Amino acid sequence: MRLVPRRIDLFLEASGRACPAPTSSTCRAAVALAMVAAVCFAQTPTAPQIAGRLTANDLKADVSFLASDELEGRATPSKGLDIAAQFIAAQFRRAGLEPAGDDGYFQTAAFSSVKPNLEGLELTLEIGGRKIAVERASMALSQPVPASLDDAPALRVAASGIASLTPDQTRGRALLIEAARPPAAAATWAPAITILISSQGPRATSGRSALRDDSAPAPGAPTVLVWDAAIRSALAAAPDAEVKVSARIPAPAVEPVKLRNVAGILPGSDPALKDTYLVMTAHYDHLGVRAAGDGDRIFNGANDDASGTASLIEIASALAALPAKPKRTIVFIALFGEELGEIGSQYYVRHPLFPLAKTIANVNLEQLGRTDDSEGPKIGLFNLTGFDYTTMAEAFQKAAEEAGVRAVNDQKNSDAYFGRSDNARFADAGVPSTTVSVSYMFPDYHAVGDEWPKLDYENMAKVDCALALAAFGLADSLDAPAWNAANPRTARYVKAREAGK
Ligand SMILES: [Zn+2]
Repeated sequence: MRLVPRRIDLFLEASGRACPAPTSSTCRAAVALAMVAAVCFAQTPTAPQIAGRLTANDLKADVSFLASDELEGRATPSKGLDIAAQFIAAQFRRAGLEPAGDDGYFQTAAFSSVKPNLEGLELTLEIGGRKIAVERASMALSQPVPASLDDAPALRVAASGIASLTPDQTRGRALLIEAARPPAAAATWAPAITILISSQGPRATSGRSALRDDSAPAPGAPTVLVWDAAIRSALAAAPDAEVKVSARIPAPAVEPVKLRNVAGILPGSDPALKDTYLVMTAHYDHLGVRAAGDGDRIFNGANDDASGTASLIEIASALAALPAKPKRTIVFIALFGEELGEIGSQYYVRHPLFPLAKTIANVNLEQLGRTDDSEGPKIGLFNLTGFDYTTMAEAFQKAAEEAGVRAVNDQKNSDAYFGRSDNARFADAGVPSTTVSVSYMFPDYHAVGDEWPKLDYENMAKVDCALALAAFGLADSLDAPAWNAANPRTARYVKAREAGK
């Protein structure tokens, strides 16, 4: 349970770095003032002080609820996700965090669920004078924007020619791109329609609804993915033939969806530095329920990422219960939508609750419970993604040592996983970031067997103790973390940081 602060006098005795003993009345007054301002001693907590407040049993309680079948895999959006959000808000309230959202602890994000209307969808290509209607089962609407075209001459682009296209060339045109993906530059184009020719269909069913952030610019034109064999062979047989496009793209069914990040703060103690922020995150969503099949169909997501969410709750609770607060403010955020492509963290960096330029770092928590990694047991240690991308590793190593665990650089996975969780969206926005994990790949990853009894809670409590110490240390330090510019992989993040200042 969340412990109330132990008596302050005991805490002072236990701490190694109290203020010097007052020797005169003036000095006594000065020391008293300093105590009030909490400037003189924001004592760094010790591992036993954290460990007494952050227990394996509390972590198990949180994970067993979040990963219960009743929450139905916490899909974004779903009733189970909403219940999880309420639970997290209640735990933040119990811990005594200050609410940081627009609606108490909730940061409300207006999204739309956009479901393509496949009834009435028609696409016909005239290739070298021969009209071929695309099979409905061999196309998917990746951007279901309504459109109507009749015999529009297409700008035919081979995969090799995409890079040289200018926005001017594409404006108002029907684009026929002989590649499965548009280039990143396509975001600046304004065509009438984009048709992508692919060797295969998308993994998800084509009629599935997609989520769209209402605050982001809506796509102005449809994109259709086509893998129809007749079309592909006709194009291949006539690489220079003129192509004309006729299309009927019906309007999609659009429904409003309210999604929520859950945010609370532990205000900093230093009058000047409390307006700077360490952001700790974990995603509370997972994959939901498999549509069909026998047996268990619920993706409980106990390790991914109820473990990170429970850790976020318990680290916040342990730090909030300490008598000493770090100089800077710590922001705790449970994020929606990571499994859909980090849409919760993407929303946050577009709508930050606290200025990103004053956000010193993001520490993201993922997969902290399972120690049975696919590469072998991972006990008494944790990994950092992008271990040497930032100056943060040292703070984690020091805290780990104090807590009796190790912060390691997983040579094979550390860099490869940097872009695979919410920390990446903070990095894109220039904020130095890392994801902390015990295991990367484990049996039951993204499978229905990722259930709460399989986590090692004793190990998790030790790791979380180190993470709480590291968070305190980072938030209490006068030096803000920075990107390691000597590592060429950080170049775009360094640039984004500069641009954000
Ligand atoms: Zn995850």
